[in-house]
Amino acid sequence: MKYVLRNCRIVDGTGSETVRENAAVWVKNGRIRKITGADVAGPDGYEVIDLGGKYVLPGMINMHAHLFGTGRPSKSMGGGGAQKAIIRFASTGAGGVVLRSMIKSNLKTILHSGVTTVRGVGDLFYSDIAVRDMVAAGRIEAPRTLVSGPAVTVPGGHGDGTFAIIGSSPLELRARTEEVCSHHPDLIKTCVTGGVMDAKKEGEPGELKMSLEQTKAVCDTAHAHGLKVASHTESSEGIRVALQGGVDTIEHGAPLDEELISLFRERNAALICTISPALPLSELDASVTMLSPMAQVNSRIVADGVISGAKTAVANGIPVGLGTDASCPFVSQYNTWAELYWFAKYVGVSNAYAIFCGTLQNARILGIDDETGSVEEGKAADLIVVKDNPLDDLRALRNVEMVACGGRLIRDPQVKKIPVIEEQIDRLL
Ligand SMILES: [Zn+2]
Repeated sequence: MKYVLRNCRIVDGTGSETVRENAAVWVKNGRIRKITGADVAGPDGYEVIDLGGKYVLPGMINMHAHLFGTGRPSKSMGGGGAQKAIIRFASTGAGGVVLRSMIKSNLKTILHSGVTTVRGVGDLFYSDIAVRDMVAAGRIEAPRTLVSGPAVTVPGGHGDGTFAIIGSSPLELRARTEEVCSHHPDLIKTCVTGGVMDAKKEGEPGELKMSLEQTKAVCDTAHAHGLKVASHTESSEGIRVALQGGVDTIEHGAPLDEELISLFRERNAALICTISPALPLSELDASVTMLSPMAQVNSRIVADGVISGAKTAVANGIPVGLGTDASCPFVSQYNTWAELYWFAKYVGVSNAYAIFCGTLQNARILGIDDETGSVEEGKAADLIVVKDNPLDDLRALRNVEMVACGGRLIRDPQVKKIPVIEEQIDRLL
């Protein structure tokens, strides 16, 4: 497999504001062998693919997805009988088959949308780990896939009854975390605070659920296995406990004060910004979101907190990665580009910086930046091709024209979009 993407423009993912014009990207055995001017004649055997001046970027990385869902809004997502019935079915043998086939189909969608690495942070019954193993064996078409298995939290914590397993005492939480580790996940997910859908009170979407000792029990166990810990955290108090307890990535976020900024630095921790789930729920009409007035108020608090936290983190040099929380209402598996778009718009960074956070920065947080995350010689050929310049307008990333993952080239990516989601996303751009 040898080809050269000729006559292209490169936006390399390093945060550079400069487009490299008139370039050629040479791909051999899955890697970027060299990057040259477009007029360089190559050795024999390379297939020449003329891109006619289109843009080549690194494939996007989605740091926060749940792999089972489509994002199509439904009443069953807020809990209640319908959700319980779905989860009961998913726990059966037949349900497991359905679940795994949904994840397989979603991974293909993710890849075809231009995402070449995805991090799953909480799915049901180890279905994500089973499918990741099929990806590793080369049996399905998928991006690089890193997964956590089920989250570990306390009774009544975020994800209890859905994608989390629970323990009360530190001892029990150690045992639960060991149980997940025995399935060989790529990271451990925990939920230090509550979320929007499970909040009991208006104004408290990020209610603290786990104590420092409980958080430490999960983190120490994970770290002993060489695994990092990602925590669902939607309040400032929650971030303090999570970071003191040893959490490596704060998912979602909240306003940061001086103490929290210092803790991020001491812990070498990163913030994963997720505007995608909060924005639709807080901005769209309740008749569309089917949210209760309380959940709508709490969504607004979370959206504002996520944006405020990300602004402070960027201003203080704390690494910020980007994720979508795919499977949440209105968050499809294929709109990762929109997180970059909203990050630039609401956090107030340049398009080049948003692309950096959604590619190379994410790879650094994952510790795989030697392998992927930018268009540089020697790295894996994880690339996308788009028609227009994303440095001018990030909506250029909405429809990708080619995707390469580990060099495997998809010349005509197909994404089946969900009209009810697209219509609402359009209102939020
Ligand atoms: Zn999530």
